[in-house]
Amino acid sequence: MNDKIYNKLYWYNVALDVPMRTNLFEYKYHSEIQIGTRVIVPFGRRKMVGIVISIILIPTINPLQIKNIDLVLYDFPPFSKAWIELVKFTANYYQRSIGEISVNAIPALLRKVSSYIAKNKKDISPIKKLQENYKKYIHKYHVKKIQEPILNSDQKKAVDVISNIKNFQTVLLYGVTGSGKTEVYLHIAKDILLSGFQVLFLVPEINLTPQLEEVIINRFYPIFGENLLTIMHSGLSDKERLFSWINLYQGKTKILLGTRMAIFAELPKLGLIIVDEEHDQSYKEQHGSRYSARDLAIWRGKNLNIPVILGSATPSLETWLNVINKKYLRLNLKNRAKSLSLPSINLVNTKNIKLVEGFSEIVIESIKKCLEKKKKVLIFINRRGYAPILYCKLCSWLSTCLHCSTFTVLHKIKEKNSYLQCHHCGKNYNIPINCPSCHNNELSFMGYGTQRVEEYLSKIFINANILRIDSDSNKNRYKNIFDNINSKNIDIFIGTQMLSKGHDFIDLELVCILNADMMIFSQDFRASEKLFAQLIQVSGRAGRHNTQGKVIIQTSYPEHEIYKTLLLHDYEYFANLILKHRKMASLPPFSYQALIIAESSKVTLALNFLNKIKEIYYEKFQNIYKHVLMFDPIPLRILRISNIERAQLLIESINRAELHKFINIILYDVELLAKNLKIKWHIEIDPLEI
Ligand code: ADP
Ligand code: ZN
Ligand code: ZN
Repeated sequence: MNDKIYNKLYWYNVALDVPMRTNLFEYKYHSEIQIGTRVIVPFGRRKMVGIVISIILIPTINPLQIKNIDLVLYDFPPFSKAWIELVKFTANYYQRSIGEISVNAIPALLRKVSSYIAKNKKDISPIKKLQENYKKYIHKYHVKKIQEPILNSDQKKAVDVISNIKNFQTVLLYGVTGSGKTEVYLHIAKDILLSGFQVLFLVPEINLTPQLEEVIINRFYPIFGENLLTIMHSGLSDKERLFSWINLYQGKTKILLGTRMAIFAELPKLGLIIVDEEHDQSYKEQHGSRYSARDLAIWRGKNLNIPVILGSATPSLETWLNVINKKYLRLNLKNRAKSLSLPSINLVNTKNIKLVEGFSEIVIESIKKCLEKKKKVLIFINRRGYAPILYCKLCSWLSTCLHCSTFTVLHKIKEKNSYLQCHHCGKNYNIPINCPSCHNNELSFMGYGTQRVEEYLSKIFINANILRIDSDSNKNRYKNIFDNINSKNIDIFIGTQMLSKGHDFIDLELVCILNADMMIFSQDFRASEKLFAQLIQVSGRAGRHNTQGKVIIQTSYPEHEIYKTLLLHDYEYFANLILKHRKMASLPPFSYQALIIAESSKVTLALNFLNKIKEIYYEKFQNIYKHVLMFDPIPLRILRISNIERAQLLIESINRAELHKFINIILYDVELLAKNLKIKWHIEIDPLEI
């Protein structure tokens, strides 16, 4: 009997999450396994969970050396063909292994060997455990009866046009802030859901989920009931995430609302993808695989032949160019849905006036007036902490991190609780009593952060309820903050960019922007695009409900192009202008980029490695890949973080296909070189910062 079983062997390519670009590993098994099934295999001395990616007819290595698959996991159905295609594409495009992408995309409990093999006790499937407590994970919602607004003519047109799109098409819903884009999404989603399909709704940040969740529940729960919605973001517990996956994969859950990671969810009946605030850089993973969830959304839409809606008041220039080239369809929401007009924008020239604690008199007066009217104020300052630098006036000593080439930021929440913190490696330092360099016993601080602004405003506006929202705010507290962003008791919000995105504040009339100039002179060619979008977005929080909003920007450069166009609320003019510059300089979106980052204890070693890559390019490839440009390696702007020094090599081409072909080839040399020189490196495709 046994002989008969072992007579026939099957060989498989299994994807494992190992830090090698080598894609797949070969294993054997005595029976047929479906593609997409998870298996436990030996790897070196460890056991690992992997995913069967393909069946091999003839092994590429000696069959006698091929190891056996230990265990085939049948507790969760095999991943679908469409999903395997998605992870394969992602791996290929972003130059990662299929294992790194696929295994990391699934819930932790499905990829832990310990979930299955613990102390010789086989099959203790986490899914079984979850099913025993199934009820615990079902949310109880309090549904509020909300009057559905009547669509205005722009909204109606957008809904009509998109509802009639039955195949793949990327649509840009270009609507000014507060124009009611959400309402358009909901109308289109409803039709899709009623015809039995699922909707994937992506938002850039966790903080934006509670508000949307509430809207979706109020609107759709009465129609679709218990299995309406699942949320997916990094704040979920392992069990919650597994629960979401199961329900989505079974097609039970209708809507998936999530951050970028949700792009990898199994959605067998996916009929529509919405990417809200598509311009937001949070859609790009900044670590690990460095994928863009927005770009993958478009790929997924194309692969499934379904529509993809990108929404924004400040579309990315990549998207804008695709509209100009008629690849994307643009639909406009020209006016605000509720109030009559966009907020008025006022510049305060701070060049020749005295600021007190960073504030001009005009701003303080305006806050006062606004509070008297019982309206709310938002102060935007893109810097957390108390003050960016501690320094010595006598000898010019500056507070720096011991492990990074950065300054440490003074944090001060009430007098006694002060420390210096490095915002790059996270290390905290005690505040020196004397200057470490000249022993002067009076150290000063420079610049402003959210805590300093909070301290000052609470001294001036004693009766106002002030709330600071940045990543230092107590986590539990700020979950509540975002849940209750429209609570009546808050008068003044102080916050970083966390506050600028997407939130719909009621009764917010005045927005004050304190330090916008900081970004004007950045070397990054995307800086002006980012700044403009950010200013429009922050400004867009003002006056969204029945009250005329007002924005005040303090700047020393009121004549700068950015501010001039901002006054006109003219994103189109701005986008076209910047595109012209980019075209002349042949920069993205008119060209495509990849960045090789090298890390070493000494930057000279990193630079040496990158220079060698450049030499290889000159010797072997320059004449073959004629559109590929390789720039000189340079140290990163922040050279050292946690005692590691970094340098970068920029590769660019006006031809995306050629760039990718070239990268595929040269990375073999890069890997070899890195091994010989013992350099750590990674590649980033379509980097947002160079
Ligand atoms: P956006 O996402 O475009 O910035 P929202 O979708 O948040 O704007 O809409 C802003 C506000 O306008 C919301 O409070 C929303 O309920 C309201 N709104 C949207 N459409 C309409 C409409 N047709 N009539 C009245 N109010 C609307
Ligand atoms: Zn540091
Ligand atoms: Zn000193």
